[in-house]
Formats: sequence, C-alpha cells, structure tokens
Amino acid sequence: MAQRNTWQRERVREALGDARGFVSAQSLHATLREENTGIGLATVYRALSGLAASGDADSLQSPEGEALYRACSTEGHHHHLICRSCGLTVEIEAKDVEAWAKRTASLHGFSEAEHVVDIFGLCTPCAKQRAAAEGSA
Ligand SMILES: [Zn+2]
Ligand SMILES: [Zn+2]
Ligand SMILES: [Zn+2]
Repeated sequence: MAQRNTWQRERVREALGDARGFVSAQSLHATLREENTGIGLATVYRALSGLAASGDADSLQSPEGEALYRACSTEGHHHHLICRSCGLTVEIEAKDVEAWAKRTASLHGFSEAEHVVDIFGLCTPCAKQRAAAEGSA
C-alpha cells in the first residue's frame, strides 16, 4: 500500500529538480499535466509534503501564504534568497542569523530552537526589467 505511489513520487521529485526555484503544488501539477503523466493534484500535494518531511525537499511559505517547494542542492540547514518575480533561488548561509537566533532563544529560556528565514526580493534582471517598464510607462 505504501509503495503504491512510488513512481508518482519519483516523477514529482524529478519535476521539482527541473524547476528553477521554489514552486507551488499547482504549478508543478500543471507541468506534469503537460507531460500527460496523469498525476492528480492531490498526489502532487502528498508527494511534496512527503519529500519535505523526509528532507528531500525544502518547503516554505510565500509572502502570500502559499506553500512552495524546492529540491535543494545544499544539505542541512540553510536559508534562501528568492526572486518574487521569476522564482530564482540562491541558497545562502547566514552565520549572523544562527548566532542571533540561538542567543535570542536562550535569552528567553528556550532550548532546541529552530528558525526559518527566507528573503524575498527582486533579482537584478527582474529589477532592471521593472525599472525599464516603469520608465516607458
Ligand atoms: Zn534550500
Ligand atoms: Zn527574478
Ligand atoms: Zn539559520
């Protein structure tokens, strides 16, 4: 029973690996539908949360509150810089953040603290494109 959807999960994992940055379940489902895989949206959701739970994918929430997923090249704890226009993702280390989070948690008597810090912005090409569009308007 647990093995039943293995190929679908593998296909979702592949599609996630091909994606440029963080993607939503809906957009990944749309990609898979173009390839006529017959994988349903509910299966994509299940596969993505399974991959995230097993550490094979990173998940985060967009500023709009949508769950986004990505197959990360970096193992272990890290942070992301994400272009909110094109989805370009840069994996970053943030030693300052690690130290700050630990310090702040212990200051309040918290142990085993975890944190999620991702930065959303515009990458250079997107910022240039936006500036050009505004200039011509
Ligand atoms: Zn990552
Ligand atoms: Zn961009
Ligand atoms: Zn961190």
